[in-house]
Amino acid sequence: MEEASLTLSLIVPVKNEEAAIGPFVSRVSAVLDALRAPDGGGESWEILFIDDGSQDATLAAICAANARDARVRGLSLSRNFGKEAALSAGLDHVRGRTVVPIDVDLQDPPEVIGDMLAKWREGYEVVYGVRRNRMTDSLPKRLTADLYYRAHNWLSMDKIPEHAGDFRLLDRKVVDVIRKMPERNRFMKGLFAWSGFRQTAVEYDRAERMVGETKFNYWKLWTLAIDGITSASTVPLRVWSYLGAVIAIIALGYAGFLAIRTIVSGIDVPGYASIMVATLFLGGVQLLSLGILGEYVGRILVETKHRPIYVVRERIGMGDAHSERQ
Ligand code: UDP
Ligand code: MG
Repeated sequence: MEEASLTLSLIVPVKNEEAAIGPFVSRVSAVLDALRAPDGGGESWEILFIDDGSQDATLAAICAANARDARVRGLSLSRNFGKEAALSAGLDHVRGRTVVPIDVDLQDPPEVIGDMLAKWREGYEVVYGVRRNRMTDSLPKRLTADLYYRAHNWLSMDKIPEHAGDFRLLDRKVVDVIRKMPERNRFMKGLFAWSGFRQTAVEYDRAERMVGETKFNYWKLWTLAIDGITSASTVPLRVWSYLGAVIAIIALGYAGFLAIRTIVSGIDVPGYASIMVATLFLGGVQLLSLGILGEYVGRILVETKHRPIYVVRERIGMGDAHSERQ
């Protein structure tokens, strides 16, 4: 990493977005060129695309954008590592005193960046964008997102702001803290929340996707949700001892009741239904708790392997003076 020499760096993870790069660069550079620094001059900025294993002409589109404007740079990963890893790669390679991760589909309006910079100049180190409403999302997506934020914040000590995506401004200090975090599981919202600092919000309306289609289906979102909760909370691991204790106490009481009833009114053979229910219920609870144990153990395995979070295949307009995280 060089010294932070620019005011603003945008990190844009892209996977199969060939049609989105051109429109993104022209709209965003117009907005950024119009920004005024306190001394009245223009702000210095860069856009860093992270090509996250695209199969289409995304890389060529990034190269073309770089040829037109050297402030647009790119990093191509060796395969698809996922958006969180792509963001980590971006944080490792940007030079700005402030950094804004933003999606390429222009769902996050670049005009908001001006408001974020203004808050940063007031002294805030994290300015996250909060969606005023989620009307561009489908109803099931809204409901599941809502449920997720509640579950996460209920289970975890590090609260994540509701309905704030990755679109936010980070001061260099925050970026450096996140870069030092050793974990392989890069649930970014969780890392941002953990790091603390002076935080504030700006509201914005999230637009419809301009071109292409979403890369996140419900299964990917579910996996992301599990990553988020397991990285931020150990409550799902610990709750079983309490549940087990409660069930054991109830079972003890029931055993006493059965013993007394047998003494008072003799042996009572029927009981098939209650035995089945108890066996199946306990079997279910045991498998569930084992599965949750498995989720955590699997993640411990991934962490102990210490593999790199991403692998860079190619750099566009980057020079060679950049260090790689190993
Ligand atoms: N993306 C990525 N790697 C992936 C999936 C998505 O870099 O494996 C990028 C994608 O190209 C886009 C951003 O992450 O710039 C957000 O994706 P998308 O718009 O599909 O998500 P949504 O807005 O639907 O949640
Ligand atoms: Mg999108």
